[in-house]
Amino acid sequence: MDMSIKPKLLIVEDEPTILRGLTDLFVFHGYDVSSETDGKKGLEQALTGNFHCIILDVMLPSMNGFDICNAIRQQSATQAVIMLTAKNAEEDIINGLSLGADDYLAKPFSTSELVLRVSALLRRTGFSSTDSIITINDEVNVCLKKLTGTSYHKEIRYTRREATILSFLHQQQKSVSREELLKEVWGYKSTDCLDTRTVDIHIAKIRKKIELDPKMPELLVTLRGEGYQLLCN
Ligand code: CA
Repeated sequence: MDMSIKPKLLIVEDEPTILRGLTDLFVFHGYDVSSETDGKKGLEQALTGNFHCIILDVMLPSMNGFDICNAIRQQSATQAVIMLTAKNAEEDIINGLSLGADDYLAKPFSTSELVLRVSALLRRTGFSSTDSIITINDEVNVCLKKLTGTSYHKEIRYTRREATILSFLHQQQKSVSREELLKEVWGYKSTDCLDTRTVDIHIAKIRKKIELDPKMPELLVTLRGEGYQLLCN
């Protein structure tokens, strides 16, 4: 991303105090911030505004954050989206991820954590064009830039998170622990109180896309006690 251009951020949040706080925070951090308090209006802006990142609350008037995220994904596979979910609502988190959100943060969240997540997501969206294609084997490849690929002659679409996981594992060429993935791919500073099931959910989704038999993975393998490894040839 050209740093002379301010990153454009849309915040869809109906709680006035939170919205004001987030707007001030991101303006302070150099973002060009737009906001919306209504779900349908938020979606309208999201689809027309060319935002580098969209922060979506879940509970909103007229249309909820999941439906907004889903509608955004219908139009754009690459739009960066972070959802603000209810605390400990695992259902919310899984829902958000399966609808294609790139990340989520549970309320009440730390604002500095949110700033870190947004900037980590923006860094990830700046995939360089030079190494944007990952070749796993003769039959499986992934284009990080377009979030598409082919697996055994099938066209596959990836979420950005899935592509980033594959990109990281591909760079490493060794087994990587769940904790390391949470740090490197998700951008968490500390993994002390983090749920590594998030990683497993994503690995399962990726296996469905790249493996001939996702239950007997041969490319993205689990090494007991160590973590995951992507075997390329
Ligand atoms: Ca709300």
